[in-house]
Amino acid sequence: MIGSKGSLNADHCEKEKVVFKKITLEKLGDLVSALKEKGPLYAPVRDGKAVNFQKITKTADVTLDFYNTVFSPKFVFFPQTEDLIRYTLQKEGAQAEPVPIAASPSVILGVRPCDAKSFEIMDRHFLGAGIIDPYWKNRRDNTVVIGYAFDPAAPPDPADFYNTVGIHAADTEGSDVFMVRKDGELLLKGITKKGESLLKGLAVLDAASAQDEAFFDETIRKDRGVKTRFTEITDTAIAAKLVGSFEKQEIWEEMTASCIGCGTCTFVCPTCYCFDINDETLFRKGARKRFWDACMFTDFTLEASGHNPRPRIFQRYRQKVCHKYSYHVTKYGCISCVGCGRCTRSCPVNIDIFSIVEKVANL
Ligand code: SF4
Ligand code: SF4
Repeated sequence: MIGSKGSLNADHCEKEKVVFKKITLEKLGDLVSALKEKGPLYAPVRDGKAVNFQKITKTADVTLDFYNTVFSPKFVFFPQTEDLIRYTLQKEGAQAEPVPIAASPSVILGVRPCDAKSFEIMDRHFLGAGIIDPYWKNRRDNTVVIGYAFDPAAPPDPADFYNTVGIHAADTEGSDVFMVRKDGELLLKGITKKGESLLKGLAVLDAASAQDEAFFDETIRKDRGVKTRFTEITDTAIAAKLVGSFEKQEIWEEMTASCIGCGTCTFVCPTCYCFDINDETLFRKGARKRFWDACMFTDFTLEASGHNPRPRIFQRYRQKVCHKYSYHVTKYGCISCVGCGRCTRSCPVNIDIFSIVEKVANL
């Protein structure tokens, strides 16, 4: 008897460790308001046919009825443009001040599992390459990511291939809180200490039941069965194949013949991190700005001498694929693509990176 009582208490303590809450979808506005009180909130907002993450000003703007956003939420940590230094030019020299790095705690609501994983891949570059990017780090440290499972009953978009890079439709990896939809309710489970602490501070949430928890676990299990397009690749094997394909110019020319070099694929991508820094000055006042750049642009590698080592589009596209699937593997130990399908969906000439990787894998 003593033994069985002891194990009951142990089970009870074990259950207390999980912070597991719920709210009805009718009360989504209350949840959004409560999250906004914690600091800036970024969440999906419908804009015509598209849905994108935005900083929320109006509670009613938030929607959780979407497949995935056109742009990834990476801009929360790595804005498309930002001022690093502001200055005033004077007759002798200049007065310059660094722009303080914003430190307010933020929340991103409704991040799909592939995008949550992309943050961890970007961490390897911005935090793990020997030099820490203080802008990325500060925002990452101060932001709670609320992940959101894909619906196991809805077919994945044909452009997606997150299974190929080892991601499933309800993976909790990369999220601080993970959210599953159950009929008219949202179930929210704390994944990290940061996420648990957020959930504990939201009085608007109700406690979830054991049945809710069982539903949550079952959704994660079912989502492991959701199949996107899939080609079996291993990091090191595809990295080596790409190195071997580098000199096969005619294949790269053929695969990228319709590309117009617009750069859209890189701007929508959650794992593209190239940037440029420029000074912009008007009437003696100015700012040193960091802004997204793209390896697909003609002048990305244009040197001051006028020489450009990648003047042709096939060379730039080859660089993009080799960077994500070969050089990133060598440098950081993982592929820098989460198979979200955004680049394929947004490409004006329907170039599909998955088909290109598949073709190289089968060379
Ligand atoms: S692959 Fe498509 S989206 Fe990317 S640069 Fe070429 S045309 Fe633009
Ligand atoms: S390369 Fe394409 S599929 Fe891969 S992460 Fe970027 S946008 Fe998504």
